[in-house]
Amino acid sequence: MEFNNKKLTRTTTFIHYVISFLLAIFLIGLANRIIWDIDGEDKRPYISDFEIETDIKKYRVLKQSIRDSIEGKLDAQDEVQLSINLAQNTLDQQQASFKTWISTRTATQSSQVNKEIQRRNYILDSLRASLKTFKSEKILLQSSIDSFYAEETKYNDLIHEEESKARVLYLEADRAYNLQLFISRLLFVIPVLLLGIWMLVKKRRHSYWPLFRGFVFFAFYAFFIGLVPYLPSYGGYVRYTIGIIVSVLLGIYAIKHLKAFVKRKKEELQLSSLERSKKIKEEVAEKALENHMCPSCGKDYLINEIFQSGKSKNRSGSLKVTTYCRHCGLQLFKNCKTCDTKNYAHLPHCYSCGDQIITK
Ligand SMILES: [Zn+2]
Ligand SMILES: [Zn+2]
Repeated sequence: MEFNNKKLTRTTTFIHYVISFLLAIFLIGLANRIIWDIDGEDKRPYISDFEIETDIKKYRVLKQSIRDSIEGKLDAQDEVQLSINLAQNTLDQQQASFKTWISTRTATQSSQVNKEIQRRNYILDSLRASLKTFKSEKILLQSSIDSFYAEETKYNDLIHEEESKARVLYLEADRAYNLQLFISRLLFVIPVLLLGIWMLVKKRRHSYWPLFRGFVFFAFYAFFIGLVPYLPSYGGYVRYTIGIIVSVLLGIYAIKHLKAFVKRKKEELQLSSLERSKKIKEEVAEKALENHMCPSCGKDYLINEIFQSGKSKNRSGSLKVTTYCRHCGLQLFKNCKTCDTKNYAHLPHCYSCGDQIITK
């Protein structure tokens, strides 16, 4: 069976990332469900809540009663107009019939005829009188309608005024509500973020690191992406400020640890080459061999025999491996005790006979 170490490492890394992402996805889903879906719709302010605090309702009732009066007057006016039309028609008819009658009866002058003229004139006069009454009634109605219209306009203005008062109150309450919502979300996200940072700093060497890393992904997502739709307009300040603080802290942490790492490496180089070779891990040794580097100080061990430098190896002359590192003195190659073949000194077994190279 072929045992490919590199492939195994790659597969393991891949599976670890899958675990991290899966955990992060489910954590994000759960957090969305718990915290952000509960918007508290019933506690959200509405503009109607603030209209109560103004005189808007009173004015609306008054305006409605005026509107009713206007409708009533308009109906009455329509009726009067009908009466006017009727009276006008009757008058026209009577006048026409009187004209015809008078033109046919002028020849014979009699007292009977005079009486008939008087009767007809009387009818015409009374018709004219009632038409006049109707017309003046219509004018009166129109003037009262006009005054109602003026009053309605006045109440419309008052209602608008009260509406804008309610709007100001509503906007204030809405801003306060959104801020409160944002703060409660922030109070949930900040501990998550801090926990994530703590895991990132403290748990990287833990054997369950892929799970911790899932939480770290979730924490950063929750803070930098999850909060975005809920940010009030000034929320950007909060996010960027905290982002800056987090980057600075992580930066300080990384710089400090790099410094410590370099210091440790330097101290290691102070140790005897025997002690150092004991501390070299197999995967480091393997990687160093692949890149023809000293596993302790990281410098190239291949040299060009003419130039004594690895860098000019492409020019001329053949390349040669050095048994000892020229920079730190670590032994790089040694002969097998059993078969005397020259072997890389930091892998466990001799490639020729399989005997142990590193003796622990
Ligand atoms: Zn070295
Ligand atoms: Zn051997």
